[in-house]
Amino acid sequence: MQNDQFFTRRRMLLAGAAALGAAGTAGAFLASGAGETTETAPAPVAGPQARQALKSSAFRLQPLTGDGPPRAAPRRLKTRREPILRISGRGRNMMLTFDDGPNPHYTPHILDTLAEYDVRAMFFVCGECVVKYRELVARMAEEGHVVGNHTWTHPLLTTLNRKEIRSEMERTSDIIEDTYGERPQWFRAPYGAWNRAAFQLGAEMGMEPMAWTVDTTDWDTPGTDVIIDRVEHGAAPGVVVLSHDAGGDRSQTVHAIREWLPHLLDSGYHLTVPRRRA
Ligand SMILES: [Zn+2]
Repeated sequence: MQNDQFFTRRRMLLAGAAALGAAGTAGAFLASGAGETTETAPAPVAGPQARQALKSSAFRLQPLTGDGPPRAAPRRLKTRREPILRISGRGRNMMLTFDDGPNPHYTPHILDTLAEYDVRAMFFVCGECVVKYRELVARMAEEGHVVGNHTWTHPLLTTLNRKEIRSEMERTSDIIEDTYGERPQWFRAPYGAWNRAAFQLGAEMGMEPMAWTVDTTDWDTPGTDVIIDRVEHGAAPGVVVLSHDAGGDRSQTVHAIREWLPHLLDSGYHLTVPRRRA
């Protein structure tokens, strides 16, 4: 999938992690339901394992012969009343999320940094950006990232009726399926403004509501140092970090992750994405 240089770098990083003793917590990846969230909360896995899981799942959902149904029917989930705020499991696991993209000015740099450190993240994309920059969503799939639904136009859902919310969510799941290879299993309401219809429709479409634990406030362009500081002070087991790869000038986000990502890894954190459902 990647070039030799990628694998050499990855081997070096894995060797480095082992030397630091970080690999000793690997057993925690298999633990599930031990955290604050309920039985259906995502069980975190390490990056390389997650990529493998995603690939096999993608193949199941997308038959190579053209005979299958055009879209896999989503599995209906239990409707939640609150979004998921953190990931469960033991060990120093955290999850990185990037919202509002993809964007040709910022997303490629963030993907480059994630690839450099062999880290997988979750991208909550907007349908209207996906149609313009399909190749970036294809790259996310290729590099093992998880893509979630962040609506088509990023509206405040609490101002829309149910039909409008459904359209925002459904169109976005459709374009994600077309570009990423499978329907999204995660949904995030714009501005973190959830309502009952969003939870119900998300569950109907097979998506869990994912919020965040730590907001980097990069949307407010507070300065690269402030963003780095927020991530490093907010770091803790189970934390979900919110950043943005679009929606404004995100050069601070791009610069900040180059600093805070190696610091988190040096501190023994595993940056994970959820295991795929079977
Ligand atoms: Zn957003």
